[in-house]
Amino acid sequence: MSDLATRLAQLDTHLARFRDGGIMNLIDGKDVPGSGGSFDTHSPVDDSLICSVSRSTAGDVDAAAKAAKGAFPAWAAMDGKERKKILHRIADAIVARAEEIALCECWDTGQAWRFMSKAALRAAENFRFFADQAPGARDGQTLFAPGQMNVTARHPIGPVGVITPWNTPFMLSTWKIAPALAAGCTVVHKPAEFSPLTARILSEICREAGLPDGVLNLVNGFGEDAGRALTEHPDIKAIAFVGESKTGSMIMKQGADTLKRVHFELGGKNPVIVFEDADLERALDAVIFMIYSLNGERCTSSSRLLVQESVAEDFHAKLEARVKRIKVGHPLDSATEVGPLIHKVHYDKVMSYVDIGKSEGAVCRAGGAREGEQGWFVKPTLFTGATREMRIAQEEVFGPFLTSITFKDEAEALDIANDVAYGLSGYLWTNDLTRALNFSDKLEAGMIWVNSENVRHLPTPFGGVKASGVGRDGGDWSFDFYMETKNTSFALGSHKIQQLGA
Ligand code: NAD
Repeated sequence: MSDLATRLAQLDTHLARFRDGGIMNLIDGKDVPGSGGSFDTHSPVDDSLICSVSRSTAGDVDAAAKAAKGAFPAWAAMDGKERKKILHRIADAIVARAEEIALCECWDTGQAWRFMSKAALRAAENFRFFADQAPGARDGQTLFAPGQMNVTARHPIGPVGVITPWNTPFMLSTWKIAPALAAGCTVVHKPAEFSPLTARILSEICREAGLPDGVLNLVNGFGEDAGRALTEHPDIKAIAFVGESKTGSMIMKQGADTLKRVHFELGGKNPVIVFEDADLERALDAVIFMIYSLNGERCTSSSRLLVQESVAEDFHAKLEARVKRIKVGHPLDSATEVGPLIHKVHYDKVMSYVDIGKSEGAVCRAGGAREGEQGWFVKPTLFTGATREMRIAQEEVFGPFLTSITFKDEAEALDIANDVAYGLSGYLWTNDLTRALNFSDKLEAGMIWVNSENVRHLPTPFGGVKASGVGRDGGDWSFDFYMETKNTSFALGSHKIQQLGA
């Protein structure tokens, strides 16, 4: 059997239970159907039905929030070393079920096996990293002033809501849920309606690993009802959200009445800037990887190439040749580099940008068309000859779609790079150290990689500026979000107190 046939057979055994029972919510340790009935989820590979999914109402969200509130005092009070043990058990169980998770994720989202097979292991690493931080999460500082000693300590903020998108749902969910649990918060998770499978698996893993009932609750459903209800719920103290910038703005409004703390990881139109003095072969590899891996459905994708005029022609020719050779195919085939886009709605959006690019006068050098007749496959697309004001240079396409703009010198490159609404990540290719230091200092982005593609180091801060986000997570930044800092001031002597009315 080919590896594709083997994986399809394995997938079938994993999907059988979803086909039979659908995807239920998990509230207070129990499987419960949504009160709003159900909706169907389909695979982007061939649009076939995967299963039905609980459609949650505000009432279901209320039940989940109450469960999270009820479980909070004991979970928050648990010794961090105990929480650490439970989170490591969750990581162990993720590793044990990594293949099942990867198979389901590929089928549910269209992401290629070559990337998803590692994503589950990265998710386990997220749990391990934050598990190890749990015992020290409450630690603070001692700050002395004349006659006074201040002691700071952190406390988990309370039950929190986690709302996730569909692009790499399992990994992203753990990126939020693991630090929340390590901090001592309880969680209500609302996964994206387009990709519900692996969120269900995660909630089962947590239950089986001994996470107490109510500490992690799963509510499936749509953004406008279940998502909205979660952001408006008075018992939910904070919302960690990953998704589109316009949804982030809606959530900020929805959470205003309950003064919700929010952390937003939003969209991007990230530049990769290639200077003539760079190692152009490595830059080429990184440019291609950072826009065509994960189907281009990646918040940190380098969707805008800024290449110096002096090397642009040669760079574009090599780029075009490589992009045309990228293997589009079944996500479970080991050879596949680009799989189908998540859904017809998203496919239509990405394809609309092909028409927009052409009508704006940019040159479509590769792709720009559907691949095959079944599923939501798009040929990897490359536009050159773009200018900064074009919509294909300004708006997030979120697909295997690269827009290239040329520049003359450093000043112009910086001007173009910063001339967008977004500011998530930036990639800089140069061997000139002074240029790299100056340019990265002025580039408007939350995360910058110099002479590298996106290589994540968990203790570093992750997040964007401008329309790309609010707040940071990663390392201790995650605990700052999920915890409140309290300061207690002790008088060290009998200082003079003003005697009013004496
Ligand atoms: P989306 O904003 O449409 O949906 C994300 C989640 O929000 C879903 O679970 C959805 O149901 C929910 N939602 C929608 N409306 C809501 C509302 N009114 N109230 C509460 N919840 C609501 O995003 P998407 O299309 O699923 O994901 C793609 C987007 O995510 C892209 O813009 C991408 O850049 C972004 N993203 C950002 C990062 C990052 O780290 N910055 C990472 C991955 C994806």
